[in-house]
Amino acid sequence: MTNKNKADLFSFEFYPPKTEQGVVNLQKVHRDLARLNPDFFSVTFGAGGSTRDKTYDTVVNIQQSGVSAAPHLSCVASTKENIREILNNYREHGVSKIVALRGDLPSGMMSAGEFRFANELVEFIRAETGNHFQIHVAGYPEVHPQADNAVEDFNNFKRKVDAGADAVITQYFYNAEAYFYFRDKCEKSGIDIPIVPGIMPITNYAQLFRFSDMCGADIPRWMRKTLECFGDDKASIMAFGEDVVTKLCQELLDNGAPGLHFYTMNQSGPTLAVWDNLQF
Ligand code: FAD
Repeated sequence: MTNKNKADLFSFEFYPPKTEQGVVNLQKVHRDLARLNPDFFSVTFGAGGSTRDKTYDTVVNIQQSGVSAAPHLSCVASTKENIREILNNYREHGVSKIVALRGDLPSGMMSAGEFRFANELVEFIRAETGNHFQIHVAGYPEVHPQADNAVEDFNNFKRKVDAGADAVITQYFYNAEAYFYFRDKCEKSGIDIPIVPGIMPITNYAQLFRFSDMCGADIPRWMRKTLECFGDDKASIMAFGEDVVTKLCQELLDNGAPGLHFYTMNQSGPTLAVWDNLQF
């Protein structure tokens, strides 16, 4: 197991566990991945604040273990007072990185919030806390699913970078070209912060298809068709996923990606398998 170059931005994302067993599992996953010396672990935040306390507990546990934790914070349906309180609590626990998002409202929930888009959250964090937080924002190489068109989506993306973001983590993708095009467009637009590719290991194709349809990530036809052939054959899905995702990560790193952010789904095995295959 290698320690990557310290200059590289490697991070691992968890979701806050809902059960006691989930907490115990995550402690093991955290230990397994901490050995890779990541830049940080990030912890998701349920839409509309639904996991607020569990996100907080998970972040504090990680932070106390000695690795940096970056809480996700989504602003949809939140008030300024809510967000201020969350930021202050994190600050008191020595948290200095944050993933700032708009988030998505659960269906049927109406927004009574004071923020409409992530750029307003980034502005608010900067206004309230100055340069205390290193702010990461989300990027969409394959275009955000609700965007009217790619040009407007990019302009909106640039607005939140200009509001004070320090780094970008992208939505996951399997077309490396989409990432390179997006990165080059950032460069041409004067965006010079790191654009870290988000990587989703493949472990379960029904779940992957469902997520990808929701978040607008394209699963290339050849991948869909191959995964469909495996049916319930978990070992073949895992082997194919490891191969495809390793090649994707290697191509990204070989062509200048500043690091990788793994959506671990609270499992260490698939991420470690890819990591061990990579040539640094
Ligand atoms: P925004 O940047 O606000 O963009 C949302 C949409 O609005 C886009 O279509 C954009 O083009 C448009 N837009 C943006 N600004 C403006 C503007 N000023 N005027 C008009 N239109 C505008 N979701 C969660 O609920 N919890 C999480 O923890 C979480 N973590 C994530 C981590 C990463 C790395 C990524 C990539 C996504 C994550 N998501 C999470 C999903 C995310 O919340 C959704 O993709 C959400 O729909 C958009 O959030 P955003 O911050 O990108 O929004």
